[in-house]
Amino acid sequence: METLGYYNGDIGLLDEVRIPMNDRACWFGDGVYEAAISADYTIFALEEHIHRFFNSAALLQMVPEITKTQLAELLYTLVHKVDSPTQSVYWQMTRGTAPRTHAFPEHTSPNLWVMIKPFTMPDIYQKVQLITVEDTRFFHCNIKTLNLLPNVLASEKAKQAGCAEAVFYRGNRITEGSHSNVHIFQDGVFRTAPRDNLILPGISRAHLITHCGELGIPVDETPFTREELFAADEIMISSTSTFCMSASHLNGCKVGGRAPELLRQLQDAFLDAFRRLTRAGSMPIRERCA
Ligand code: PMP
Repeated sequence: METLGYYNGDIGLLDEVRIPMNDRACWFGDGVYEAAISADYTIFALEEHIHRFFNSAALLQMVPEITKTQLAELLYTLVHKVDSPTQSVYWQMTRGTAPRTHAFPEHTSPNLWVMIKPFTMPDIYQKVQLITVEDTRFFHCNIKTLNLLPNVLASEKAKQAGCAEAVFYRGNRITEGSHSNVHIFQDGVFRTAPRDNLILPGISRAHLITHCGELGIPVDETPFTREELFAADEIMISSTSTFCMSASHLNGCKVGGRAPELLRQLQDAFLDAFRRLTRAGSMPIRERCA
């Protein structure tokens, strides 16, 4: 074969092997991988790669259904099917196949992928040019990216604690939830994290701000702290699927509940707008999307 794709036992050319859309790689990047090089049908440093692979899996609380030896044997079997003296040998394991929810699915087993392609050995004696780039990894929360691993892990923690959502903080600053924005009412003011690179600019958040304007509720978009969250009159989360819900407990402590009328006003405004704008035939689609 010129290239090889393997998925849970199915083998074919890379362009031919099919993956179910609900593989958690597709929605969340929820998996771990390794890449090695084989020359003359020998995989270089395979034990080290397999060791790191199992370690990465354990760190993500994933339990391989294959032993280290079985994996090595499988990779060698597959390497022998590809007609190239030097090969790139890549494999990954994803948490499984399940309908899209952030927290870990209850009933699923890991999926194993392997990709083998011809590899051209680099001319390591050539000089290369480089650039420097600031390390901004995990600082791109404003992008609705598919790389959701930290959100998945936080959501799973919330689920394990019997909670609906996990609220992220950086230093002392509250940023957002694992799949929602977080807001508070304090002394009649609607406070929400600023729209910067540390939060997703939620559509629901934007609607809440608009409704506050209509209701004459002041809005403050400066960062608020963990202490302010605990002491808030009300704590709310918002997202496309939860709309705007308030919290009764945070880390097991009773919170909020001190501005129920204000909260209700805002929730009613949100739901009224939802019902008005979704009424069948209320507006031609062209106008809606203009
Ligand atoms: N932050 C994160 C990390 C989210 O995943 C979501 C939900 N998509 C939100 C905020 C809320 O955004 P929206 O109101 O557009 O659903």
